[in-house]
Amino acid sequence: MLVDLATLEQLATDRLDGGGMDCGSGLLLLLSRRMRSLEPGAGLLVRTEDGSVPADLVDWSRLAGHRIGGQSDRDETGAWHVLVHRGIPAAGSESATAAGKVAQAEPSFTAGEATPLGHRLWIYTNFHCNLACAYCCAESSPAAPAQQLPVATALAVLAEFAALGGQEVYLTGGEPFLHAEIGEIVAAAAAVAPTTILSNAMVWQRGARRAALEAMDRDRARLQISLDSADPARHDAIRGAGAHARAVEGIRTALGLGFRVRIAATWYADEPGDEAAWTRLLDEWGIPADDRLIRPVARQGYAATSERAGEHVTVDALAPEPTVTASGVWWHPVAVTDPAMQVADRPTPLAAAFDVIRDTVAVQDAARTEGRRHVFRCA
Ligand code: SF4
Repeated sequence: MLVDLATLEQLATDRLDGGGMDCGSGLLLLLSRRMRSLEPGAGLLVRTEDGSVPADLVDWSRLAGHRIGGQSDRDETGAWHVLVHRGIPAAGSESATAAGKVAQAEPSFTAGEATPLGHRLWIYTNFHCNLACAYCCAESSPAAPAQQLPVATALAVLAEFAALGGQEVYLTGGEPFLHAEIGEIVAAAAAVAPTTILSNAMVWQRGARRAALEAMDRDRARLQISLDSADPARHDAIRGAGAHARAVEGIRTALGLGFRVRIAATWYADEPGDEAAWTRLLDEWGIPADDRLIRPVARQGYAATSERAGEHVTVDALAPEPTVTASGVWWHPVAVTDPAMQVADRPTPLAAAFDVIRDTVAVQDAARTEGRRHVFRCA
């Protein structure tokens, strides 16, 4: 129904400028966030410069339980305006919380079931790192802004996660052991749920970091260490000269201290790693099969501008794994530099961020039930 823009403006309670985004490149998540902030019946006026969006909004509104109040013709800037009235808040259905399977992985990459929403929480403790790996999805490096999560914020996030029934915590970065209070954060996380700390294992050999490592509860805290190859040259080509030797030294230290250690390799899809040699090395160390992980490079962060192949990730392609940073909550830990994947502007309340994710997943599930391969157009 075409309605003049002045009338739509009068009927709207809030406005959202979607610019050139389409529903497969971030607008869907943004819409879910903004509709959550409206009272039932209130109208959101969406401006879009993408011609696919008005039609997609009709489908999205139906699937999400909202109602289209009208659409303007193209204005002088070439944009369309669509008024969407909020419907009855969608309940978090079982299908919404189950989230479906993770996008199909390449044969050599580790695959697995999606984690139910609310079960797992990722926390970026900081973004700076002693390394500057070419594929780093977080754009970490020694020069990167630290963006350290204050301990008080971490404690608030963890307390809310515990109250929501959270089951497992993953701490990542950046290099988490560069956070001066990593010991305190790990202790708080481990008190809430079994905790995994992702690390390059290169900075804990001595001093305060070694003391923090030794103080960690081996029954509640485990380490996930990056080792891309059994071949030092291959590992160092991405991570820097000498990185392999220091990582191996760090792995041996952690094993010697009695930690459960997972080893994770990250490979480009167009250049499979030396899986046989990598496996032999992990066999030597006694790393069980469940603690070995081979991940594809995500086309995010530094990898987004690389000429090499990386997995294109979107809200549609990735099962959600809520991720807290100092600047908010994100859809997934591999996409914390992508504005299209941000769920909330603040780390807390977590419950509100989980609700936005549930709304989005409910629409995705409903669309898949209708037999769509993709929920909406993907960029
Ligand atoms: S991939 Fe990991 S080790 Fe490499 S720069 Fe990023 S955070 Fe640091």
